[in-house]
Amino acid sequence: MNAAAYDCPSAQPDMTDARPIGLLSGSPTEVRIAFFKKEALQAFDWRAHVSDADATQVLRFGARCEEKRCGHFDGHSCQLGKRVRDDLDPVVDHLPPCLLRPSCRWHAERGPSVCLRCPQVATMVPPASALAAIAVTPAEAA
Ligand code: SF4
Repeated sequence: MNAAAYDCPSAQPDMTDARPIGLLSGSPTEVRIAFFKKEALQAFDWRAHVSDADATQVLRFGARCEEKRCGHFDGHSCQLGKRVRDDLDPVVDHLPPCLLRPSCRWHAERGPSVCLRCPQVATMVPPASALAAIAVTPAEAA
């Protein structure tokens, strides 16, 4: 795949080609993403349920990777994906059933091990959660 065509798996809803990939579940201190099945997404109009401003408090989005316009991209790869794989413990034993995988930058660059950690990442960290803050903060700001 052309590197420019990769998708970001922790995107904002106003980014190019943004679509929901999962629903935040668990608790504020232990976020878990429930990944959507294709059939569920086809009938789901997320804008009917939540505003753009609040969307990342409820949903995880995939969207076209913005590469150099993103603070996580070092010119070669996504450092957020690296930190998720290197700094977080696995939270599942098997690959989550994720629709984004064929185009996901994290998976393409870090392999299946990042998927075992991915379900604990919230793009917008719930206020009471410190769990994923390490992952969502660009390295230079950490
Ligand atoms: S589960 Fe894997 S393929 Fe899916 S968004 Fe997370 S890192 Fe990407």
